[in-house]
Amino acid sequence: MKAEIIAVGTELLLGDVVNTNAAWISRELAGLGIDVFYHVTVGDNPARIKSVIEQAVSRSDVLIFTGGLGPTEDDLTVAAIADYFNVPLVSDPDSEKTIRDFFIARGMKHSPSNLKQALRPEDAVPIPNPVGTAPGIFWDVSARTGKPTVILTFPGVPKELYLMWERGRELLLSRQEKDGESRQVLVTRFLHFFGIGESLLGERLSDLMAGDSPTVAPYVGRSEVRVRLAAKAATENEALALIEPVRNEIIRRLEKHYIGEGESATLESAVASLLFDKGLSVAAAESCTGGLVSSRLTDVPGSSEYTLLNVVTYSNEQKTQMLGVSPETLETFGAVSPQTAAEMARGVRRLAGTDIGISLTGIAGPTGGTDDKPVGLVYIGLCGLGADADEAVVKKTMVNHNYKREDVKHWFSQYALNFLRLYLMGRLKPDREETPESPEVNLKPV
Ligand code: ATP
Repeated sequence: MKAEIIAVGTELLLGDVVNTNAAWISRELAGLGIDVFYHVTVGDNPARIKSVIEQAVSRSDVLIFTGGLGPTEDDLTVAAIADYFNVPLVSDPDSEKTIRDFFIARGMKHSPSNLKQALRPEDAVPIPNPVGTAPGIFWDVSARTGKPTVILTFPGVPKELYLMWERGRELLLSRQEKDGESRQVLVTRFLHFFGIGESLLGERLSDLMAGDSPTVAPYVGRSEVRVRLAAKAATENEALALIEPVRNEIIRRLEKHYIGEGESATLESAVASLLFDKGLSVAAAESCTGGLVSSRLTDVPGSSEYTLLNVVTYSNEQKTQMLGVSPETLETFGAVSPQTAAEMARGVRRLAGTDIGISLTGIAGPTGGTDDKPVGLVYIGLCGLGADADEAVVKKTMVNHNYKREDVKHWFSQYALNFLRLYLMGRLKPDREETPESPEVNLKPV
């Protein structure tokens, strides 16, 4: 079955509403093993809706419409579909009753335009709407197109679509069975990586990306790269068996950059599982990130096992008072320096009594940069795991200064958590494969 999703609504074309319905339906169909070949968006215009139907009928077997089922003049979807097939509309008695009851329950009177929503082609099956007045339809038009074709309509309002989908899904699956099509399931897995750009990752995985079962595709996120693995098979287990060896090979090749699998895989969750496994605690001393690293470290459930105390020391005085950073260090090297980062890490570790201390000091911008110390510069310090617990390692990183302040802070926190992750893995060594945002790595004890 080849599916096409047709979103109807001028508001979508104007950019006032984002077409999340198409993405949602696509994911649902992918889970059913139904291929979606096209997404189309069309305005509230009968002639254009009909031309979209003509094109869709010629290339797809399942046409799924969202939007344009309302009571107003510009809600034209069902009428345009019926008109295209030259079929009259009849009123569905159950849908009509639902609409009348909907208004009676609210002490209101329905208008004739509300009853328009009960109209459907005679041989279409209604898809009830449990929360609104616009039902959808499931309509088999194979006899009219001369090939297997079904049409489904859903309202534009996402929560109505979600609630009605179950019935639409059942009708689709029974249709698939009737056509004798063997049902396939599509299983997808997302692997998350940090510290490697899309192009280098693509080069490393090029042979695997050439395969088609599973398909392997990189996606660029805000500051991470995800790799999507997808396989289709008769059962979920069979699909997983196709995915498993390729997944393992990808992780083996990119182990240093691998954060984890699935939606919940973040740098903080990767750090947390290492801390849990090793039974270690960490304390953060932040300046430029204003507590973001602390916040992210405590986003993970159970973080009280490894978090005791974190501090934000913005001023030099507080760096000295709270963390014991020496005034001479601040005077000689400045607040944004590897020396200060090292002393902050040592200071917070002692203050909190944790195994590890991590610190950040940098310039988040947009102002405050100099030639020597530009916006985007950050030093991240770590100490606690060496032979001498006070021995600090410091990483100097540059984030693109054109980013907005909140993005600079996000990147700083990403690098800090990644640096901590590598430290916990015992994998800190100069690494020339870092992204362009971190051209320099300085891991000498300070
Ligand atoms: P209604 O009974 O509310 O008129 P409808 O089926 O006619 O339902 P539309 O009028 O097309 O739906 O859209 C109603 C609202 O649903 C839109 O204003 C928009 O907020 C949301 N919406 C419509 N289409 C989409 C879409 N493709 N993706 C996400 N939201 C959408």
